[in-house]
Amino acid sequence: MKGWILYKTPQIELSPEAYEIHRLIETASKKGIEIEVVSPDQFDLVVTREDRKSILLNGEVVSLPDFLLPRMGAGTTYFGMAVIRHLERLGVYTFNSAQCIDTVKDKLYSQQILAENNIPVPKTMLGKYPIDDELVDKYLKFPLVLKTLSGSMGKGVFLCDNKSQFNDLMELIHVTNPKLNIILQEFIESSRGKDLRVFVVGGRPIACIERSSNDNNFKANFSRGGQVTQFAMTPEVKWLATETARLFGLEIAGIDLLFDGKHFKICEANSSPGFKGIESCCDIDIADEIYNFIKVRLGKFED
Ligand code: ADP
Ligand code: MG
Repeated sequence: MKGWILYKTPQIELSPEAYEIHRLIETASKKGIEIEVVSPDQFDLVVTREDRKSILLNGEVVSLPDFLLPRMGAGTTYFGMAVIRHLERLGVYTFNSAQCIDTVKDKLYSQQILAENNIPVPKTMLGKYPIDDELVDKYLKFPLVLKTLSGSMGKGVFLCDNKSQFNDLMELIHVTNPKLNIILQEFIESSRGKDLRVFVVGGRPIACIERSSNDNNFKANFSRGGQVTQFAMTPEVKWLATETARLFGLEIAGIDLLFDGKHFKICEANSSPGFKGIESCCDIDIADEIYNFIKVRLGKFED
């Protein structure tokens, strides 16, 4: 079995995803899977009705892999998306599909889908200029969370304590990048500095951790240096995570849940979730789980 990991650069050493990619490479070799890291700019896409068995990689015709593991998540560029779609059209199975990656990249669109399906989410508005801080205060109250439409690792997520801070930040965004779309969100106070990350593979919630920030910041991302501990999933947590992954069609997913009193709200879904934090505190081999699932999905379990 042959697979490609699609990443923004073939030089992974200094990237924040280095851990995951190394784990996926070492586990593949143990399982007899041929794996290679490729990046979008190594491809030339030729769209034609002929030749559905090969693609141009570094200017050379190469045979197609059995599967593709896109690992660019929210950072998937148009070019990256075009490569994923192209390979899908040629019959390569992608984990996850281009459509799911595109959906969860947009934090407003994904909240709309969840709300439509009765999944609890923080109240969310699309940011608009000129600012109507009265309206925002009426629907969301302060403090509120301001986020870029697309982002990861907590970058582009701010907590605005009051109207004046909010107005300043909105003006700064407007003068520096008026085209930047942002969302405004109700701040879920009981989740300040902590949240849950559930890893879902093939519709099964296989691990869950509680993440907490260790610098008093409201953001709990592990990539910000937060702490992680294993969390025993309740039926509610399992159901929310699997249902969220199912609604987006994600076969490999990292679902973030916010603590809301005794219950939870869905913060976001990630299409190429990191698993360093999970593997550091849970007795689970995520890379192995991913390949086992891929083998089942491709009908190659005996390989
Ligand atoms: P990213 O995609 O960068 O991880 P998130 O939307 O997941 O962005 O937000 C980053 C972190 O900020 C979350 O993991 C959570 O700890 C915190 N957070 C985000 N939204 C809220 C909210 N509405 N209320 C409370 N905390 C939040
Ligand atoms: Mg997140």
